[in-house]
Amino acid sequence: MGKCLIIGCGGVASVAIHKCVQNDEVFEEIMIASRTKSKCDALKDKLSGTSKTIIHTAQVDADNVDELIELINGFKPDVVLNLALPYQDLTIMDACLATKTHYVDTANYEPEDTAKFEYKWQWEYRDRFKEAGICALLGSGFDPGVTSVFSAYALKHEFDEINYIDILDCNAGDHGYPFATNFNPEINIREVSAKGSYWEDGHWVETEPMEIKRVYDFPEIGKKDMYLLHHEEIESLALNIPGIKRIRFFMTFGESYLRHLECLENVGMTSIEPIMYEGKEIVPLQFLKAVLPDPASLGPRTVGKTNIGCIFIGKKDGKDKTYYLYNTCDHQECYREVGSQAVSYTTGVPAMIGAMMLMTGKWQGAGVFNIEEFDPDPFMDALNKWGLPWKESFNPDLVD
Ligand code: NDP
Repeated sequence: MGKCLIIGCGGVASVAIHKCVQNDEVFEEIMIASRTKSKCDALKDKLSGTSKTIIHTAQVDADNVDELIELINGFKPDVVLNLALPYQDLTIMDACLATKTHYVDTANYEPEDTAKFEYKWQWEYRDRFKEAGICALLGSGFDPGVTSVFSAYALKHEFDEINYIDILDCNAGDHGYPFATNFNPEINIREVSAKGSYWEDGHWVETEPMEIKRVYDFPEIGKKDMYLLHHEEIESLALNIPGIKRIRFFMTFGESYLRHLECLENVGMTSIEPIMYEGKEIVPLQFLKAVLPDPASLGPRTVGKTNIGCIFIGKKDGKDKTYYLYNTCDHQECYREVGSQAVSYTTGVPAMIGAMMLMTGKWQGAGVFNIEEFDPDPFMDALNKWGLPWKESFNPDLVD
């Protein structure tokens, strides 16, 4: 079917690449390009010959638009799948524009020096992508990604109007370390130490970090503490789900994680303000990342499950209705299949599916789109086929 250039070769990319190689009818040829080429080569060595997919590797600095353009012109992919960090979104979009190549990512742009993630920078590319006749698919991970597709699916099949969405992200995995993050520590800590917010009656309501706590009894997991966070899919769902009154996002955190995080914050280790240390400028959070366990190393030791999904409240045929769509994923099963834990797995699988939607032409459009703007049905089918089957409940416990 076609060629895909994957940028980045970390936790999420590794899963997406395994899945592309499994899906060799669509991904006939892939190029893995990242800052550290040895990681790309190691993955190529592991996967070459396991299917018909031809694998190439390259070194690239994705902050450098000219380097990216040269790489894209040399390989001529149908789609660029950006699995580097949110800081590289705009340079990669610039290179896609210059080469008229479709673009897919899993996280919205965030300037490195202000821990603020929002879609405005990427939405500013709408006209240029439209004029170039190419598609940018934003947010094809799990959350954003699957949670957004779940919302589009619920609206299409289960409701006339959705009024409330609660997105619940539970990771009940245990890696045995007192403190570690399940994906890039810098991105993760920036996200959880920021102020919380939710969307209500047409505007944002801001909270202190971790101010709102609830306990939820998750299917297949049990009761867990969860906390309200700001999360990027709220911003686009607020625009794309007509009649919506409130959208909240909750994530579970264990006591040990929160205690360590508080202590690290109190001593200044989570700051993104550069400081001078022995004549060299360092960013405390980046230093912290260097001493924490590499998320990729958690795979073999993490046991337990994740459960991520959305509870919808709205109306169907004039009657009140509640509906819960979720996926559960087992850390050890993921590790046995692709050598990664479930947090990378639940992001890498939808990243592959997003690229597949554009490569197969099941999703088409010229411009910049959030994932819930497309027909959810082929994506929902692909989730069942490629390792993230979804479950539904018509009588879920609600979050007060
Ligand atoms: P990792 O840190 O494990 O991997 C990032 C990769 O990008 C590394 O291979 C890194 O190279 C590479 N990279 C970083 N900077 C550059 C650069 N300038 N040029 C080229 N390559 C670069 O991160 P994750 O895999 O955990 O996360 C990947 C993305 O997925 C992030 O954007 C994250 O926010 C997103 N994500 C989305 C989720 C969702 O549900 N939507 C959930 C989890 C993550 P090197 O190996 O040299 O460090």
